[in-house]
Amino acid sequence: MSTATPQKKLRIATCSLAGCFGCHMSFLDVDEALADLIEHIEFDRSPLTDIKHVSAEGVDIGLIEGGLCNKENVEVLREFRARCTTLVAVGACAMYGGVPALRNGIPVSELVAEAYLGTDLHNPQVPCDPELPPLLNKVLPLHEVVPIDVTLAGCPPPAAAFRELILAALAQRAAVIPRTDRHFD
Ligand code: SF4
Repeated sequence: MSTATPQKKLRIATCSLAGCFGCHMSFLDVDEALADLIEHIEFDRSPLTDIKHVSAEGVDIGLIEGGLCNKENVEVLREFRARCTTLVAVGACAMYGGVPALRNGIPVSELVAEAYLGTDLHNPQVPCDPELPPLLNKVLPLHEVVPIDVTLAGCPPPAAAFRELILAALAQRAAVIPRTDRHFD
């Protein structure tokens, strides 16, 4: 009978804020490799599990796709920061704001009017349900609100970068991501 202690699984939380889910799709592109890794990882809050909050006891890695476009995004980010040992900004939107930040040169009131008060609409009105989170004046990258430990460059980062991040964490070493896997096109 083996007396080896089974390795503790790496706990991972993921979320998409002002992103397009492309980074999550790239993560899933790890494909068969994910089948190997799944022996060693387990998902906490994530679109993959539909768990709504990061566990209060915390997780090892938090992967965040997308920047911050509304107040709910900021709350989610702060929860990840408080409960993830290593917080990772995944992709161009999380690192710089990305495509959603193209709105930053236009006042929010003008954007909302353009989207909801168009001339051809019948009874146009701006949605005002209290459950809708207020928009921020500008779309922000994650590091402008909380400290970030690791960035994965790309739009999206390649699957190989996610795999290396996880393998490095399991081996308790720094991730080594080659330059060819750190680009934005
Ligand atoms: Fe989508 Fe690219 Fe932004 Fe990732 S970095 S959320 S793939 S637009």
